[in-house]
Amino acid sequence: MSFKFGTAINCIDGRAQEPVIDFMKHKYGIDGVDMVTFPGVDGVMSSGISDAIVLIRNAVSISIEKHGSRIIAVIGHFDCAGNPGNREHHYANIGKAVQQVSSWKFDAEIVGLYVNDKRQIEEVT
Ligand SMILES: [Zn+2]
Repeated sequence: MSFKFGTAINCIDGRAQEPVIDFMKHKYGIDGVDMVTFPGVDGVMSSGISDAIVLIRNAVSISIEKHGSRIIAVIGHFDCAGNPGNREHHYANIGKAVQQVSSWKFDAEIVGLYVNDKRQIEEVT
């Protein structure tokens, strides 16, 4: 049995890591999650093309092509310092971020997740 990877495009925030890893391991039957992190990443991903998005895409491509990941989650979370805003703001950003990742045409399922104030996962898309 080989190690099964998933991929998360997540904020740097320490509160947003374990809930995402636990959720993805259980939901998608993977053994671990490659974490691509950037502050307020749902906001970065939902605004037009940027140098940060190019770097994020390159990092994700390693997870997909070298680790064989077939699931990519894009995450926003409560009380984000890098992308301040309420739950509706993050839901909107996560939706756009999922569209951005979809445009990359990787052979993977793409989902949007929100880590709420109780550090629970909400499935946005
Ligand atoms: Zn954050």
